[in-house]
Amino acid sequence: MRTETSKKLFAEASRCIPGGVNSPVRAWKAVGGTPLFIQRANGCTVTDADGNTYVDYVGSWGPMILGHAHPKVLQAVQDALREGTSFGAPTAREIRFARYLTEALPSVQQVRLVSTGTEAAMTAIRLARAFTGRTKIVKFAGCYHGHGDSLLVRAGSGAMTFGVPDSPGIPESLASQTLVAAYNDLDEVETRFRAQGAEIAAVILEPVVGNMGVVMPQSGFLEGLREITARHGALLIFDEVITGFRLAYGGVQTQRGLEPDLTCLGKVVGGGLPLAALGGRRDVMSRLAPDGPVYQAGTLSGNPLAVAAGLATLELLQRPGTYERLEEMGAQLESGLVEVLRRRNVRGCVNRAGSMWTLFLGVDEVRDLEGAKACDTAAFGRFFHAMVEQGIYLPPSAFEAGFLSLAHSDAEIDATLAAADRALAALE
Ligand code: PMP
Repeated sequence: MRTETSKKLFAEASRCIPGGVNSPVRAWKAVGGTPLFIQRANGCTVTDADGNTYVDYVGSWGPMILGHAHPKVLQAVQDALREGTSFGAPTAREIRFARYLTEALPSVQQVRLVSTGTEAAMTAIRLARAFTGRTKIVKFAGCYHGHGDSLLVRAGSGAMTFGVPDSPGIPESLASQTLVAAYNDLDEVETRFRAQGAEIAAVILEPVVGNMGVVMPQSGFLEGLREITARHGALLIFDEVITGFRLAYGGVQTQRGLEPDLTCLGKVVGGGLPLAALGGRRDVMSRLAPDGPVYQAGTLSGNPLAVAAGLATLELLQRPGTYERLEEMGAQLESGLVEVLRRRNVRGCVNRAGSMWTLFLGVDEVRDLEGAKACDTAAFGRFFHAMVEQGIYLPPSAFEAGFLSLAHSDAEIDATLAAADRALAALE
């Protein structure tokens, strides 16, 4: 596969953009080599700057549930475009969009639109602190909630430890307000609440994790967190930026009948344009300015093009059979990959929820960050490159979710499995 143009573009980009990319994981540092520059995308494929076309499982890291360049989404954006691109004033579309979210998610009575998942999570934390009058938050190792200062913290080596910043530039004094627990370890959360419950404003988590690869909540974990937070007067924040409208119309909470106090949404709800949302209980949300004193704002929040794309996407997702089809394809891919692992005698496991999936190599089971970190990242790098060579574009890291879209079909899944078979054979 010739990728000379991508290589040339990356060299050029690296001179004027730090690391050549505008978001770090795009740089392929985790798998080696240099990234493909994408020229265009359509349905379940992306085409690079050299004209190579790949079956795409990155899906812009989650938003493209309908596939790329869906005609109805493009039409909605074009219609909005003719009316102007941004007004900095309220628009009728925002009301329709907010209603879709409040109708889909019983826990969400009001929503505030923002442009990125990072803003949604950052605002959730500010609001939880203001509402409870407390400062500490609990997050889980391996869960990503954007790059806000309080949230860019993961576990130290110990069990429940005080947070250590993941990035220079975050004051220790702030990071130390973030307590980090192991995902799926309810006892650890309970212990910390017993000691410091009166200081904890909120627990934030991905109710199904995408950011250490796919990791499922064990039975009773989410329910346990709901019970502990309620008992201690702390808020429960579900970060459904990935899972919202991907695993069900609504999210993990609607699938499982749970009611967090606040919910972060992004990715799918924006249909591939910059749109995200924070939603939740009216008594909490109404503390946001201008109703309340908690300040939050955005020049491009609720941007008309983004809201048009989001509305078109949610309308298409309302069609019957949508999530059944995604589940069916996901199950097909999962069982096929498990079979390929067995046939090639390669140790590994597939974690999957609906249309999001991760193949972990070198481990039998992953249920938290420690488990994920035990996987064979070097083998994954070789597997990744062998897949790219065969026209299959996977997320360029062992710790990411791959995404199916409604534009994928049995033919692409079969081609992916055949490619995986050859790629794993080459690992032997
Ligand atoms: N929360 C989760 C669960 C995410 O996966 C992400 C992005 N990968 C974010 C928040 C941040 O969203 P954004 O990149 O739009 O700021």
